[in-house]
Amino acid sequence: MTVTLDDLPLRDDLRGQKPYGAPQVPLPIALNVNENTHPIPGAVADDIADAVAKSISGLNRYPDREFTELREAFASYLGHGLSPDQIWAANGSNEVLQHLLQAFGGPGRTGFGFAPTYSMYSLLVRGVGSEWIAGTRGPRYEITAEDAARQVREADPDVVFLCAPNNPTGTPLSIEVVEAVYEASRGIVIVDEAYFEFAPAEATSALTLLPGRERLVVSRTMSKAFAFAGARVGYLAADPAVIDALRLVRLPYHLSAVTQAAATAALKHSGEMLRMVDDIVQQRERISATLEALGYDPYPTWSNFVLFGGVDDPHETWTRLYDRGVLVRDIGIPGHLRVSAGTEDETSTFLDALAAIRD
Ligand SMILES: *Cc1c(COP(=O)(O)O)cnc(C)c1O
Repeated sequence: MTVTLDDLPLRDDLRGQKPYGAPQVPLPIALNVNENTHPIPGAVADDIADAVAKSISGLNRYPDREFTELREAFASYLGHGLSPDQIWAANGSNEVLQHLLQAFGGPGRTGFGFAPTYSMYSLLVRGVGSEWIAGTRGPRYEITAEDAARQVREADPDVVFLCAPNNPTGTPLSIEVVEAVYEASRGIVIVDEAYFEFAPAEATSALTLLPGRERLVVSRTMSKAFAFAGARVGYLAADPAVIDALRLVRLPYHLSAVTQAAATAALKHSGEMLRMVDDIVQQRERISATLEALGYDPYPTWSNFVLFGGVDDPHETWTRLYDRGVLVRDIGIPGHLRVSAGTEDETSTFLDALAAIRD
């Protein structure tokens, strides 16, 4: 007899829930989870390999629990006058967000975000026994400062998630919204800047708002712009007191010596690592323009992906792209699909396949 979850003494609040599940299938062109489609440059990869190799001889010892060197590297990468005691890191920004919820959420508390938004927020919120409250967006998934503040005041959440720019829609979030939500809330306000490096040069980071706002947290990741998704490294900047709170909930030595070595080495090459970003932005612009020419409805985006409407049957289009070796994402918004910008060749294959389907 096959054992199911119903046979286990599972937490009641986890019954009936679905795990995060973007399909992982080996197609030649994977444009479904917003990865950086460009590999790490060879010389940088060699340097990272050297650093990792050096770390191996010390693996009999636990790693630096405070990942001091890595925190220094993140502080200097981010700039804005940040110091290492304002930096936290973990195995992907998903773990960073989980640490925040373990410290500031929990049973009897609530987490809030403007739907549709990153699907992991509600899963992480429920995972710590908190209640998820979904706010709403205006036309074209935009949010105004006034409306955002009103919704947050009404919901009165313990933790607010602001995804800037928003996944899965790509929608930019103005710094005024962050300010207004902070003023309207009493809880922790997390600005998830996972895609910030893909925003226009004139975009203002929420990092500029940190001074004097001890409940504000800005999270980032190496998964997207740094082409480091497989290494699992995310980080945040906040008041040093927030960092102290996170020390209460992290597992001891949560960042392995191997991870610390790899990430620190990669950050020494941030210039080269980020060189792909301009090309990805160019491919994104080409996708948006071509989608429009094909009669689809692409949304404004400050990320490395494009959400587009005007898809009569998303499942059908998804399947026909799949059959041509191209994996995109059906994010469950009727009439819409999402595609990540690929390399120039990958992007061409996607656009040609879509044009062929459209005919
Ligand atoms: C991809 C993504 C992340 C990053 O997740 P990691 O755990 O760092 O790989 C965080 N937030 C959003 C909105 C994302 O799309």
